[in-house]
Amino acid sequence: MNAENQSPDVDFDVIVVGAGVAGCVTAYQLAVKGHSVLLAERGPKPGSKNLSGGVFYCSVMKEVMPEFEAEAPIERRVTRNCLSFLSPTSFVNLDYRDERLAQNGTAVTVLRAKLDDWLATKCEDVGVTLMPGIKVDGLLKDADRIVGIKAGDDTLRSHVVVAADGVNSFLCRDAGIRATEPTNHLAVGVKSVIRLPREVIEERFNLNGDEGAAYAVVGDCTNGVGGGGFLYTNIDSISIGVVLRLDDLVERGESSSDLHDRFLSNPAIAPFLKGGELLEYGSHLVAEGGRAMVHDLTRPGLVVVGDAAGLTLNTGLTLRGMDLAAGSGIVAAKTIDTALQQGDFSQASLDAYTAELDATFVGQDMRTYAKAPDFFLNPRMYGDYGRLLSDVLYGVYNLDMKPRRHLLPMVMAALKESPVKAMQLARDAYAAVRAL
Ligand SMILES: Cc1cc2nc3c(=O)[nH]c(=O)nc-3n(C[C@H](O)[C@H](O)[C@H](O)COP(=O)(O)OP(=O)(O)OC[C@H]3O[C@@H](n4cnc5c(N)ncnc54)[C@H](O)[C@@H]3O)c2cc1C
Repeated sequence: MNAENQSPDVDFDVIVVGAGVAGCVTAYQLAVKGHSVLLAERGPKPGSKNLSGGVFYCSVMKEVMPEFEAEAPIERRVTRNCLSFLSPTSFVNLDYRDERLAQNGTAVTVLRAKLDDWLATKCEDVGVTLMPGIKVDGLLKDADRIVGIKAGDDTLRSHVVVAADGVNSFLCRDAGIRATEPTNHLAVGVKSVIRLPREVIEERFNLNGDEGAAYAVVGDCTNGVGGGGFLYTNIDSISIGVVLRLDDLVERGESSSDLHDRFLSNPAIAPFLKGGELLEYGSHLVAEGGRAMVHDLTRPGLVVVGDAAGLTLNTGLTLRGMDLAAGSGIVAAKTIDTALQQGDFSQASLDAYTAELDATFVGQDMRTYAKAPDFFLNPRMYGDYGRLLSDVLYGVYNLDMKPRRHLLPMVMAALKESPVKAMQLARDAYAAVRAL
């Protein structure tokens, strides 16, 4: 609502809870359109509580801030993507490097403490009122309508509240939108940031200038627990960690920090980190349920964005949440702008958000990868396939003066030794094609 229309019974047109990517993009877009916006963040500084592996597929930011790529605290541009299978004794990589990624790459590495702080400053530049250190405890309701927020003894009123409070959204629970998320929809991420001189990183990862490498690792890094490892290069540090499916972790009685340490000390991984200094260590929940996690996204006076809306995708090759958070923020701001102009904050008015989001890359990708979470329930992904692959390659490269066989008989021999059966392999390959 523009200043002249501003209703006296609200403190702000819109209150956005959570200064992550989703909240900052929503707040920024609304302030640019002339609305009064409060951005409340529980951390002492935006980003201080946030944690991401760190690859941001950032094309979407061009729609929000054309200057994003030139000015944002980007670490490196990802020009090398590796899909790696790790076993206790082998490291098999599908290593993809492409000049086109260096020229038109859409993926950059970021550190959230820097990125979120920068995004929040950009929000302030366009007039958003940023309130860090405020933990929102609940929603203010008037009959079935959300009319503001509660924080401690304080209340603040608005026409619309945006729940951008992340994967564990307390606001969604308070609005009756969702109950506690089942553990098979969640994973826990444990991450370290290790400082290394920039020349060492460039040499170790075969990078020039601001090029970057991103490794997605499956297999022994999780000791059989559903999930995987990641390793991303920053300017003068490495982001490295594991993402572990919560239900499997609990069932197997494993400790997430022990698995993190085990991954970092694997003989194939440790040389990447040699001589490095630990800068940061943290853990955070990851939304892993895909489309099954996406619930109602609106109530009268409330719109849900980003992880709070369940918008994260793990395809094994890419882990995406930040671009989906930004995409949902753009659509949310557009819907709320229309609602403010029309003075209509009903469910029907705000439901335009759900319909529009469904038509964007966010909704479409959530549908495309709807089968991915089920595919990754397959335990063979986290052990057997890595070993099978390395047994086949061992047969190819270990020329021990025994007569060689063609590849197919070698694969069949490796399969015979492996717990994986040929029919399972065919079925899993078919499932992979359908899910990914
Ligand atoms: C280990 C790990 C690796 C990942 N790797 C990647 C990756 O490489 N690429 C990628 O795109 N995505 C990745 N993700 C997912 C990505 O981090 C999330 O999808 C993304 O951060 C979602 O953004 P968001 O703004 O919705 O939520 P968040 O970034 O979680 O922001 C929520 C904000 O709300 C604040 N908040 C919460 N509750 C309250 C409250 N009550 N009051 C006030 N403030 C509150 C929080 O402090 C936080 O600032 C990863 C996640 C993890 C954990």
